[in-house]
Amino acid sequence: MPNKSRGGPGKAPKMFLFRVDIDSVSGLLRGVPRILSILDRLDMEGTFYSIMGWEGDLISSLRHRFLRSRRGIPGGASGASWGMGPVRLLEHSRCLLYPVKIPALGSGLLNEIRGGGHCLGVHGYVHVRWHSPSPRELEEEFEKMTLAFRDLTGESPRAIATPLGHDGPGVRKLVARHNFKTLTGLGGDPELVDTGDGSLPFVYIPVNVDSIEFLRTSGISRKGTYERITRKILEAERAHGLASLYVHPRYEGSHEIELLEKVLSFVRDEGIETGTHLQFADAFKNGGAG
Ligand SMILES: [Zn+2]
Repeated sequence: MPNKSRGGPGKAPKMFLFRVDIDSVSGLLRGVPRILSILDRLDMEGTFYSIMGWEGDLISSLRHRFLRSRRGIPGGASGASWGMGPVRLLEHSRCLLYPVKIPALGSGLLNEIRGGGHCLGVHGYVHVRWHSPSPRELEEEFEKMTLAFRDLTGESPRAIATPLGHDGPGVRKLVARHNFKTLTGLGGDPELVDTGDGSLPFVYIPVNVDSIEFLRTSGISRKGTYERITRKILEAERAHGLASLYVHPRYEGSHEIELLEKVLSFVRDEGIETGTHLQFADAFKNGGAG
């Protein structure tokens, strides 16, 4: 229900948003189907952001991750906390030598996402390049990921989550130039972004609830994680009209699937409205009448 007291453009509608970053082969194949079936059971929408190329290859990894990656990377977004057991090492070696294109491998799953009432957006072309991209490489990433999305779906992508929470004036100009309607990042407030060059403004959507991955890898128990996240969801709803959570299929979709289902069930039981990032952006522009 629209809340009149919150009216006016740029006001957040009361909503819970669920974001899923697909940035690994194992996350795609193992985690995404499980997450989709939870959302199906709870009749809830999600916004999935997928790599449109591959995770990393030997040359890109050497250049961006190991040699040039001195620029600041926001914590909890790099996936570096997942450890390097023998299986991970094997998977890493395979990805480095024989990169697999995520859309080619997962076209069935990605189309299932789109057909299931969810939103599919993009999450870079080669993920590892976002550790230390030059302006030229950023432009290339935008070109390639939007082209690959059109090859897959026949449509232009409208929602973007940049790998590693990459943001800044350069990124925002490219987001506007490619006609995205939403950019999601880590932290900040929802805002209508006008890059000032006459292009259409888009809506910035923050993640504002601690992730399960962040809390669990900080040593907090499952019970403590559940309590902290559900409390934060209610606080964020009350303070900003928006609670926004994000997960990685490789982590939550594989290791914490029961906890994730419990958290999403809490949202459903509380009667909090849910929507995709694009639905939120439309409602936000129209002054909260979602
Ligand atoms: Zn990512």
